[in-house]
Amino acid sequence: MTAPAVRVRDLHVKLGGVPILAGVDLTVAPGEWVTVIGPNGAGKSTLLRAVGGLLPAPHAISLFGTPAESLRRRDRARVVATVAQSPVVPAGMSVLDYVLLGRTPYIPPLGRESAADLAAVDDVLDRLDLGAFHGRELATLSGGERQRVFLARALAQGATLLLLDEPTSALDIGHQQEVLELVDQLRREHGLTVLATMHDLSIAGEYADRLVLLAEGRVAAVGPPAEVLTEHLLATYYRATVRVVDGDHGPLVVPVRPGPRPLRSEQ
Ligand code: ADP
Ligand code: MG
Repeated sequence: MTAPAVRVRDLHVKLGGVPILAGVDLTVAPGEWVTVIGPNGAGKSTLLRAVGGLLPAPHAISLFGTPAESLRRRDRARVVATVAQSPVVPAGMSVLDYVLLGRTPYIPPLGRESAADLAAVDDVLDRLDLGAFHGRELATLSGGERQRVFLARALAQGATLLLLDEPTSALDIGHQQEVLELVDQLRREHGLTVLATMHDLSIAGEYADRLVLLAEGRVAAVGPPAEVLTEHLLATYYRATVRVVDGDHGPLVVPVRPGPRPLRSEQ
């Protein structure tokens, strides 16, 4: 049996002394797309940070069968690439130089990037419709353009596991679709594994094989989108009034205005 791409077992994370994740279990198969949903503050970003090695999580996480803590930084970077929710934008850096940072795990210490590194970066910039932005300073891009550059850096890294924390929040619906279709295409063509978080529940369900509903640091539900995107679960964990309707690629979640509250005299 092949090892899962990600295995999280009984993960507990405390930040500033406060428990943020409490006993999270999660498995992602190679080539699978799993999206973590859940209300603000549920711990989605914290979970992705732990899987990406940005937070210590001893003995709780393995990647492709190897305990995460035993991977050296450079080796880990060839396996897993992260797009953070709000990446830091280095001052004065061009788009090309930023995306080239994704090639760091392949460039020898004190060495320079090779023609192959530059070709990999060009290819990714073209695919993400960023060909015209090579020389632009990152800080001058719009939020959506910048988001695509962050994704470009992760793709240039050539890792087999992509961790995407709300990769489309800053994008208009056209660019949302473009980016998610590209990620899905790469997944199909190159066997990438995707672990993402997303706020838009319909889009989350359309692209993921399975959804994980996280609430207050625990897994409240996990399964195919049709099992997780139910009016009952969304009412319970988001306090949201929604209708779930059948779409071509799974359930679509439509927020609806709650009915009027009963007047005091009717109670
Ligand atoms: P989500 O991505 O689901 O919105 P996060 O993982 O970002 O949630 O945060 C989960 C909880 O952890 C939030 O209540 C947040 O305030 C808290 N938190 C995040 N970082 C820290 C920190 N460094 N110290 C203390 N609390 C934190
Ligand atoms: Mg978050």
